[in-house]
Amino acid sequence: MFKSEDLPTELKSAQIMLIDDDDFVLDYLESLLSGLGMKYLFRAGNGQQALDLIDSKQCSPQLMFCDLAMPGMDGIEFFRHLAKRRYQGGVVIVSGVDRQLVVTQQRLLQEHGLKFLGIIHKPFDESMLVSILLKSAVISLFTDSTTTVRKLSVEEIGAGLVADCIETYFQPKVSLDDSRVVGAECLVRWNHPQLGILPPSAFIPVAEEHGLIGALTVFIFRKAVNHLRDWEQRGHSLTMSVSINLSMETIAQFDLPDLLASIVEQSGLDASRIIFELTESGLLDDLTVELEVVSRIRLKGFGISIDDFGIGYSSVEKLKLLPLTELKIDRSFVHGACEDSVARIIFESCTRMGKALNIDIVAEGVETLADIEMVKAAGCNIVQGYYFAPPMPAEEFVAWKTKWDENLTA
Ligand code: C2E
Ligand code: CA
Ligand code: CA
Repeated sequence: MFKSEDLPTELKSAQIMLIDDDDFVLDYLESLLSGLGMKYLFRAGNGQQALDLIDSKQCSPQLMFCDLAMPGMDGIEFFRHLAKRRYQGGVVIVSGVDRQLVVTQQRLLQEHGLKFLGIIHKPFDESMLVSILLKSAVISLFTDSTTTVRKLSVEEIGAGLVADCIETYFQPKVSLDDSRVVGAECLVRWNHPQLGILPPSAFIPVAEEHGLIGALTVFIFRKAVNHLRDWEQRGHSLTMSVSINLSMETIAQFDLPDLLASIVEQSGLDASRIIFELTESGLLDDLTVELEVVSRIRLKGFGISIDDFGIGYSSVEKLKLLPLTELKIDRSFVHGACEDSVARIIFESCTRMGKALNIDIVAEGVETLADIEMVKAAGCNIVQGYYFAPPMPAEEFVAWKTKWDENLTA
């Protein structure tokens, strides 16, 4: 049983604002939150009252629970004003309106650059509040900003490439047909001497912006290929593929296909064992470059996957234009989709499209048994996610896979 003492102390001294036109809801929220040990609670009856409190510096909330439909300034308009003020705290939507409208608001909040923590549908109880509070603590809303991921500088990235700070982690892709591991996605980490293990967001965007992503990608690719060959020599992975993320910036910068082909050739592996996942962080200026380079990569025998399929503007167009072998459906249509009919319908349609095109369909972000059941019912049979394993360093991955294979044959 969860006890309020288990909530982090910095959370209890945070300023929390409750915005709702219904006094009953405000009273209820206030009593639950104070019962959980929250000390500084502020009430507002609509968006305007909340803004007045913030602008007059009577409070500077780190967390807000906000209704959508309110007379005067509603939640939707209020979020726009918060974004203009560059509000850095977390926002929780508390609402009784139709679920699809709430989902759209969630997206709007993210587009505004606000930190969306979750939705509480009315009626709600203490357990829902607790999970939101814990989530806000996990994303370090209340800790010092120096503890958030620091972006590496171009110089640090250059030096790190020389000093071999890059580590390749691997996360299994599992077939739902026979539970075998059919592949692994290579996800890169930075082993920083002072800051510890840093996620891709600390350096991939910087590398993309400063023209270093090409060199970085080749570096990662070499490492991943070496691991695959090593596993093979040790008797693993004979049927396994390895997926590598390729940002569009790399494609624009490089005479990539020949380079990639020569690296696998030297390793003695077959190119069909490698899948490139194309991610899109921006639109390419020149579509002809993308088409040419991707086609040549495919011609060399590598697999091509569209990552985060379903989000982004040109996903479906890419399906028509590129020589794909796999669709990787974005996790926003996977995890929790059994309870979100729109997400589930999108997932099912993506799966149908992939099947009709006769390419592999992978669901990413599978976290629960319910996710697996939804994915399977839709006809998708390759999955990846925390339900099976997180990304792991190469040695840990092999140990995990060995145990997994043993359990399969036991
Ligand atoms: P992605 O390609 O969409 O990778 C999947 C991300 O989801 C990974 O985050 C992974 O750790 C995380 N993930 C895996 N299973 C689950 C799950 O069940 N639930 C949830 N919520 N998340 C899950 P990670 O490792 O932080 O990577 C973030 C992104 O960085 C990747 O997104 C990819 O776009 C980029 N990235 C990673 N490695 C490379 C690389 O070598 N090159 C390039 N260009 N980009 C990379
Ligand atoms: Ca990926
Ligand atoms: Ca993805």
